[in-house]
Amino acid sequence: MGRADVIVVGLGAVGSATLLHLARRGVRVIGIDRADPPHELGSTHGESRVTRQATAEGAAYVPLAVRSQELWREVEAETGADLFTACGVLMAGARGRTGTMHGVPDWVDETATLAHRFGIEHEVLDGPAARRRFPMLALGDDDVAYHEPGGGFVRPEAAVAAQLGLARGLGAQVRTGEVVLGVRQHGDHVEVVTDRETLVAEHAVLSAGPWIGDLLEDAAGTAGRLRVLRQELHWFAVDPARAALAEPEACPVFMWSFGPGEADFFYGFPALAGTEGGVKVATEQFATSTTIDALDRTPDPEAAASMYETHLRGRLLTVTTHHLRSRVCAYTATGGRRLPRRAARRRGPHPARVGLLRARLQALRRPRRGHRAPARHGRRRPAARALHGGVGLPST
Ligand SMILES: Cc1cc2nc3c(=O)[nH]c(=O)nc-3n(C[C@H](O)[C@H](O)[C@H](O)COP(=O)(O)OP(=O)(O)OC[C@H]3O[C@@H](n4cnc5c(N)ncnc54)[C@H](O)[C@@H]3O)c2cc1C
Repeated sequence: MGRADVIVVGLGAVGSATLLHLARRGVRVIGIDRADPPHELGSTHGESRVTRQATAEGAAYVPLAVRSQELWREVEAETGADLFTACGVLMAGARGRTGTMHGVPDWVDETATLAHRFGIEHEVLDGPAARRRFPMLALGDDDVAYHEPGGGFVRPEAAVAAQLGLARGLGAQVRTGEVVLGVRQHGDHVEVVTDRETLVAEHAVLSAGPWIGDLLEDAAGTAGRLRVLRQELHWFAVDPARAALAEPEACPVFMWSFGPGEADFFYGFPALAGTEGGVKVATEQFATSTTIDALDRTPDPEAAASMYETHLRGRLLTVTTHHLRSRVCAYTATGGRRLPRRAARRRGPHPARVGLLRARLQALRRPRRGHRAPARHGRRRPAARALHGGVGLPST
């Protein structure tokens, strides 16, 4: 029977970060994944993820987001991988009613308020000023835009690969192609049953992304509130006449609520794989839930053209109608979009952004191997607990 201090179930953005930071602390850790990450089956793929410090979804996430960007730089320095590009993030909406995103009304204003409160470098521009500075977006005179120069994008596949590589180098065991069938608490330890064997650990961290409902015991509780939401990402050809405006040196990551509804929203990135790679854009849908097993991973041939007409035409000026490719990805959201209060304290909003930090928070308060800390207040903390993690607020 295999043994570890901690077993991490699922090695996407969250699990790979958890594994790395536990291994850094000298924790004996095993990571298990049903596939071979990075892969395109869950939530951590599609070339890019927005990282922004002022997270309107909640003030509690801001310090996590700030720290996560420092941690990306550390991983880059250790691996030489290109993970985080600070090309800035521009968030726009109509002045006075900047739209709803992730359940947050007036999210652009809320973002600026948080940035001010936390001392995050930013600017708030009126429509004409934003248009002059960022002519790739046809913002109107009545729009307002928040610009955070320290934000940008993270490359999710490279981030997972880098974190797993570092974790392995620190002694973490990585087991791929192995399915965890269940996690059970037994007195002071946890049993993790896989399709190969039963493993024992003091703790298990469940970071199974959209599969996590299968592993949670309280089916009527947290698991019952989880929703898997199919999302499509689209790449459009760069307009050759405006190619320079699509480059990361000129173009920030952008998020624009152009109308009051949650669907009146799109986000996108600079052309980060050169002009030939195109510009990635997406909107979000919260109307229809699915399950990860039933997820249709084939892009809808109509969806890209439809998104161009309803969202991009006349607004995003760096792309043409020529659609290059699409990918399907899954959000896992709680019913009310926000994490339950208790869980939110343990987790950050967007694992791609705070995954590293979450690992720090979840890491056992345990000294490096060979140096056991004295029990606090004369009591041992509960030794075996299955921590469920891995469910982030959706997207961007
Ligand atoms: C389209 C899209 C856009 C997004 N945009 C952003 C963004 O811009 N910024 C941002 O911060 N976040 C964004 N997100 C959210 C972010 O990408 C996800 O929150 C994050 O990638 C989730 O990582 P994860 O590790 O929890 O899940 P996953 O990446 O799905 O990893 C879960 C892993 O668990 C494994 N697994 C599952 N069940 C088992 C089992 N029983 N046994 C063993 N292994 C198992 C799977 O194989 C998988 O590798 C976006 C998400 C999507 C889908």
